[in-house]
Amino acid sequence: MKPRRFEFHSPQSIEDALKLASDFDDDFIFYAGGTEAIIGMKERVIEAGHVLNLKKIPRLNQIQMQDGSLHIGALVTHQEIADSEIVKRVLSGYADLSHNIANIRVRSAGTLAGNLCFAEPNADPPALLAALNARVVLIGRQGKRDVPVREFFDGPYSTVREEAEFMTEIVVPLGAEECRCAYRKVVYLNRPSAGVACVRNLVDGTPVWESWAGSITGLPERLNNVCAVLNERDAVSEFDVMQAAARDMAGLDVLEGVYGSESYRKHLVAVLAVRSAMECVK
Ligand SMILES: Cc1cc2nc3c(=O)[nH]c(=O)nc-3n(C[C@H](O)[C@H](O)[C@H](O)COP(=O)(O)OP(=O)(O)OC[C@H]3O[C@@H](n4cnc5c(N)ncnc54)[C@H](O)[C@@H]3O)c2cc1C
Repeated sequence: MKPRRFEFHSPQSIEDALKLASDFDDDFIFYAGGTEAIIGMKERVIEAGHVLNLKKIPRLNQIQMQDGSLHIGALVTHQEIADSEIVKRVLSGYADLSHNIANIRVRSAGTLAGNLCFAEPNADPPALLAALNARVVLIGRQGKRDVPVREFFDGPYSTVREEAEFMTEIVVPLGAEECRCAYRKVVYLNRPSAGVACVRNLVDGTPVWESWAGSITGLPERLNNVCAVLNERDAVSEFDVMQAAARDMAGLDVLEGVYGSESYRKHLVAVLAVRSAMECVK
């Protein structure tokens, strides 16, 4: 199918983009790599009279360390993250995650910001960014605000971002003396059926674990019982972590569909919780 007719605009600054967004009064979409936007427009699930191409806005394509945090600009692609010497040095687990997203064509065009804003429920970054307590920076008519990734999503294809707000960067705090992180997933048809992220931070000499599941409900889900077991022992017992994950999954409404049944995906979470935790103590 062909998309509805639209006008293509390339604002040269954040201010220009916000002005255009205001002029078009919600009859627009932002456009970064286009990997989701183009499919959506062709299928006419996204209809907009104006497309605001963000790619001409300077300085949104940078990855840098600033004030002890990793800053990833809104135009940085998954492949650029995977190849970044900075990310490989400070968060090699996140570089690995990026390297394993989709295929080289999607990774080379698709941005991390586009992934988060589209909020496709079968996605890799949200679980690990939530486990790392990352935040996103949004800018809109009302000004700038920071939103923790843990609070950014409110369901499949839905976030707390206002239509006319755009994401300028993703910020990952790196305050710990040592940070190990890992993400493990099972993929079906190019997208994850389930994924689990694990982080082990050393804070004032004390290990602090976080374990989060993704691609199961449309939100990153904290595995509270898994976190408790890991924090109590600072060791990974396969039996205990699987039991804890099963308790976390009990009663949770998990999406059903082409990516697997509810029971299958819950089982995957338990297995992946073990694998991602093991990776953090290797
Ligand atoms: C075949 C295929 C396989 C895939 N497999 C995986 C996978 O295994 N794991 C995974 O995690 N993901 C997967 N993806 C998703 C992929 O990561 C995203 O398509 C990509 O990151 C989206 O980024 P983009 O720059 O292309 O966004 P676009 O398509 O340009 O935009 C997507 C949406 O986000 C909005 N948007 C984009 N940037 C901004 C911004 N800065 N501020 C506000 N709104 C913005 C747009 O308006 C649009 O609604 C897959 C996609 C495809 C097509």
